[in-house]
Amino acid sequence: MKIYFKRILIVFLLVANTIMFTSCKNNNPNITTNNIQNLIILIGDGMGENHIDNAKTYFELDTQPFESNYIANINTSSLSLGATDSAAAATALATGVSVKNGRIGHDGDSAIKNIMEYASDKNMLTGIITNDNLFGATPAAFSAHTKDRGNTLEIIQDQSTSSLDLMIGKYSGEYYTNESLFTSNGFTMCDNTQDLYATPNTQKVIANLNNIYSIYNPGKTNQTNLVDLVDYAINYLDNENGFVLMVECAYIDKFSHSNDIIPALAEVRTLFDIANYTNEYINNNPDTALIVTSDHETGGLKYTNNKSKINNNLYTKGGHSSKDVRLYSKGITLDSTENLRNTVVFDMSYTAITKP
Ligand SMILES: [Zn+2]
Repeated sequence: MKIYFKRILIVFLLVANTIMFTSCKNNNPNITTNNIQNLIILIGDGMGENHIDNAKTYFELDTQPFESNYIANINTSSLSLGATDSAAAATALATGVSVKNGRIGHDGDSAIKNIMEYASDKNMLTGIITNDNLFGATPAAFSAHTKDRGNTLEIIQDQSTSSLDLMIGKYSGEYYTNESLFTSNGFTMCDNTQDLYATPNTQKVIANLNNIYSIYNPGKTNQTNLVDLVDYAINYLDNENGFVLMVECAYIDKFSHSNDIIPALAEVRTLFDIANYTNEYINNNPDTALIVTSDHETGGLKYTNNKSKINNNLYTKGGHSSKDVRLYSKGITLDSTENLRNTVVFDMSYTAITKP
């Protein structure tokens, strides 16, 4: 009888611990930061470790500067069976909570607060950049809440009342159809970089731009370079209260779904450029932290160290796989590299912006 009671007590304590953990966020004692003021989160959608390593093979690149910091692998699984989708994966990265596939910052019953909302509470400025539509799963998880990623209008409405200061994505007419929602909430809307760069940073901005593919993508000319947009965003967001910026390279996933390896690796190289640019920025601004990771792997890509063998046959599937993805960070470190889940990205982000 005594043992039985003890077991109930242990179960009760475990449940109580879980409830506390999901309902109130605490600094994770296993995470170390050095007086971080600003945070940049860079996400390669669909980027597995073989995408990273094959890009180095194809473009004949050595270890990249941003890789010389903390490195670990993270498990990407969601609460659904099989591989995660981008919605559940991005929700885990943005909120620290594992949900079922299709959910955007929402657990099915209620909205889950994301890192941008925590940052805004601290009067930090926040921004997102993607070369996908802004209602795409990854940017949506950092700016909206809905049970189903297909609820495009709900995502757009939510974004229009969000606390975000800067949103940059691919051109899509839905945002212009709903322009009044944004202007009535203080946003300026624009569709080209000239107008974007001319907008003062006292103004909230949403930009829907054409042509944001990788500049390394053969056949794509006159592209807006994502590095230029990141440079602009850092200058726009820089302020005494700090900022959080999320940047997504979306086309690694899209080209990998169609097993189109060269443009996929071109997108990975663009991600390298952004990661190295921000890595260098942090060398001069050590109060800024960087996280580079992915939501999941797409295509079950195999690795080769022989450039002549880089071809579409390296893909083993057209969908997402359950392989772990890499996590790099600078300015925030975990005391372990073992048994990590994707939710640790939120834990690191949250600790970085709340630790004194
Ligand atoms: Zn995908």
